[in-house]
Amino acid sequence: LNDLLDGKIRSAYVMTEPNTASSDAAQLSFEAKKDRDKWVLNGEKWWISGSGDPRCALYIVMACSDPDAPKHSRHTMFVMDADTPGIEILRPMQVFGHDDAPHGHMHLRFTNVRLPASAVVLGEGRGFEVAQGRLGPGRIHHCMRAIGQAEKALEMMCKRGLAREAFGKQIIELGANYDIIANARMEIEMARLLCLKAAYMMDTAGVRAAQPWISKIKVVAPLMAGKVIDEAMQLHGAAGISQDTDLAHMWTHVRTLRFADGPDAVHRRQVARAELKKYSNENR
Ligand SMILES: Cc1cc2nc3c(=O)[nH]c(=O)nc-3n(C[C@H](O)[C@H](O)[C@H](O)COP(=O)(O)OP(=O)(O)OC[C@H]3O[C@@H](n4cnc5c(N)ncnc54)[C@H](O)[C@@H]3O)c2cc1C
Repeated sequence: LNDLLDGKIRSAYVMTEPNTASSDAAQLSFEAKKDRDKWVLNGEKWWISGSGDPRCALYIVMACSDPDAPKHSRHTMFVMDADTPGIEILRPMQVFGHDDAPHGHMHLRFTNVRLPASAVVLGEGRGFEVAQGRLGPGRIHHCMRAIGQAEKALEMMCKRGLAREAFGKQIIELGANYDIIANARMEIEMARLLCLKAAYMMDTAGVRAAQPWISKIKVVAPLMAGKVIDEAMQLHGAAGISQDTDLAHMWTHVRTLRFADGPDAVHRRQVARAELKKYSNENR
């Protein structure tokens, strides 16, 4: 942990599978079987962010240890060295044509990876609990960064609009650009307050109570940031999508956030379920 905190090594979180709709984590089928005092892991995982980084020394892997157990007790979380025998990196996945090197989002194959009982995190069948504990703060963190990127895009948009002229006026004075600036500022502030509320709920009421709030901001922040960055690209003209500004990279990042750590639709479902629960005893 000290080496992780000092940034000397990195870890990767290994959950998503190529052959399973992984937004429904209960059906993840990557296998963990007991062989006397060892666990044996087999299967493929992909989109594992950070696993391409040469400093990546640890994998935290969610595996199905009992497919017949109740939905939320089927999975166990394991921690292991990234160079454990039997783990292969098959390829880097590309995001809009980029491999995000050296960070990378790798496609991995595990073949008879043998682990001691001490590799289990928290306890057998408690993978979901670990996932929820880790993904909650991680999602808030992603959203904070998306809001920061929107803030940066707005700043760039204002400076560019004031600095460049067309049709005898500053670009900012043309068309609907005042409205675009105003809407961007208002939407950033709304997202910032929602993010703060999610973090406040996490701190004061715990992961479970914060869940719908985390889902709300996980939908709102990347959508808002995508929209603001898109407007900033437009106001920059062709430079906005080129290598001369950070905007194109920022846009692709916030677009991928609409999948990473759960697609929008799954989070909307969480929000709707929490809302409906107020009026119905049925478990949806
Ligand atoms: C850049 C990037 C980095 C990533 N990093 C990691 C990582 O480090 N570790 C890791 O384990 N994974 C990572 N992922 C994977 C990511 O978490 C998954 O892509 C995501 O959970 C969705 O799983 P899936 O791709 O299997 O989509 P699927 O489960 O196949 O879902 C596809 C689509 O089905 C629809 N859908 C699904 N459920 C519902 C629903 N309830 N209601 C309505 N529609 C629905 C939605 O349109 C959804 O987008 C990363 C992904 C990206 C793009």
